Amino acid sequence: MHYHITPYNPAAHLFKVKCFVDNPAIDGQEFSLPAWIPGSYLVRDFAKNIVWIKATSNGEPVRFDKIDKSSWKAEACTGPLELEYEVYAWDLSVRSAHLDQNHGYFNGTSVFVRVHGKENLPCSVEICSPINSVIGDWRVATTLTRAGAEEYCFGKYSAADYDDLIDHPVEMADYRMASFEVAGVRHEVVITGRHKADLDRVCADLKRICQTHVDFFGQLPKMEKYLFQIMVVGDGYGGLEHRSSTSLLVSRKDLPLIGDTKVNEDYQQFLGLCSHEYFHTWNVKRIKPEVFVPYKLQTESYTRQLWAFEGITSYYDDLGLLRSGCIEVQDYLTTLAQTMTRVWRGKGRFKQSVADSSFDAWTKFYRQDENAPNAIVSYYTKGSLIALALDLTMRKITANEKSLDDLMLMLWQRYGKAGIGVPEEAIEQHAEEIIGCELGAFFQKYLYGTDDLPLAELLLNVGVEFVLRPAESSKDKGGKASQKSYQNLQQRAELGVRTIADNGSLKIGTVFDDGSAIKAGLAAGDVLVAVDGLKVEGDNLETLLQQYKPGEQVDVHLFRRDELMLFTVELQSPAMDTIELRLNDDVDERVIANRKAWLQSQK
Ligand SMILES: [Zn+2]
Repeated sequence: MHYHITPYNPAAHLFKVKCFVDNPAIDGQEFSLPAWIPGSYLVRDFAKNIVWIKATSNGEPVRFDKIDKSSWKAEACTGPLELEYEVYAWDLSVRSAHLDQNHGYFNGTSVFVRVHGKENLPCSVEICSPINSVIGDWRVATTLTRAGAEEYCFGKYSAADYDDLIDHPVEMADYRMASFEVAGVRHEVVITGRHKADLDRVCADLKRICQTHVDFFGQLPKMEKYLFQIMVVGDGYGGLEHRSSTSLLVSRKDLPLIGDTKVNEDYQQFLGLCSHEYFHTWNVKRIKPEVFVPYKLQTESYTRQLWAFEGITSYYDDLGLLRSGCIEVQDYLTTLAQTMTRVWRGKGRFKQSVADSSFDAWTKFYRQDENAPNAIVSYYTKGSLIALALDLTMRKITANEKSLDDLMLMLWQRYGKAGIGVPEEAIEQHAEEIIGCELGAFFQKYLYGTDDLPLAELLLNVGVEFVLRPAESSKDKGGKASQKSYQNLQQRAELGVRTIADNGSLKIGTVFDDGSAIKAGLAAGDVLVAVDGLKVEGDNLETLLQQYKPGEQVDVHLFRRDELMLFTVELQSPAMDTIELRLNDDVDERVIANRKAWLQSQK
């Protein structure tokens, strides 16, 4: 299989692609583009971005029919068969393709058709330089194997098969690059977009984090190099894992400037994202659900295990920052408490189990609407808390002899390294095997059921106090100690909604289950106009409500579509949904030793 791809018309965001098939299927060759990209569980129907497509053989047109939303069939010909098509690339995300005068980026899933029946054959790809003028001197950053191309240059690359071909996104731009070495493998950091980041510092921190994860699993999977492919924008966040690279979309403010020395919240978020995607190099790119071996990219692929692949990864991403020395224990506990706060703020956690959230990721988690906080739970956040609770439980039962670290190592040895998919429920069984005791009730309650995790009790064993309190304000993300007394916090009056600033006005984003607003009849999408006759504007709603106590009534004017409506709302007190974690050193030595083993563990 041979492909050609050219950033053909950057101004119009068009790649031109050619695919050459020497020996097409005798009864007509079928082709398709994936409907989804591994790591992002939403049907995106990438074929919709194919503007036109045609087939020829020896220069003569070949009849070419579309047979479903993502597939085509060429009429039988003796070959060779050549496809030519244009791909519209204007999705600035890590999941698709994007092209303009500044850069070109693509995932193979957006641009390379799968030649049915020939998925296991090696492929070659010629990445051609842009035809129209572009800004700067473009180079190529990808982990595709070079097959003639000079390093960082346009030219010939290759892939072992189709699965390999689509797992090495390509960035072409006048980017900045730096590198460091871990486990004898060069790790490159390539950044596109305007920024003045301190790349030396980024590399020094990433090196520590990568080393921590390599030490955790005992080895880096075999690869030529690893690539952090980063796009910097004014406001953006996202990452997608690949077998030897990750694509990241980050905000400019997330990167440290020269002279910065502290790890502020933004930079910590950036390091956490890098840590997360790097951990995926093992957990989900190699240790993967059985149903993903091989990936079936034409339609949804259902698994109840995403809590283990995203939740456990989310647990170790921040823990990795601590274990690598990038952040302090208190920073870690703050971050952990904020994750807990996010989970505790969604009543959907009582309606959907994490296992079901994983199964329904395609239609629920990835397609959240205004009712999501009431209806669903995140397999990332609650999944990471299940990982924490499982880790602390395993440590408690075995007096720190065994932990989640051992489970991950076992999964790597038995599945990841061996290239075998993990069957549904196998992870639970292996956890039991490691500690030599039943965990059925644990998983039934917290993974397949909707019980809140017993974190307060488990954290006591490591000398950490779990404190649940009302939020100080709508800006309170949890994790920080409140200066106000508990009684004081409870006196804050709330409407029971989440709001969104919308062009100077304030719109209701979500109306919370069982809250004051829903009882009074307010709805998501309503634009707040006035509270007791005083104008709502900007973010003054909380200031207006400060004059009231829970239980008092207010008149709320709002627009629903273009109709002015009036409601009387009885204000509520804030929910107990904000979590702080406090280190308690006034405990016996055994507890301090438990904490040390947990936070610093490195098998
Ligand atoms: Zn992830």
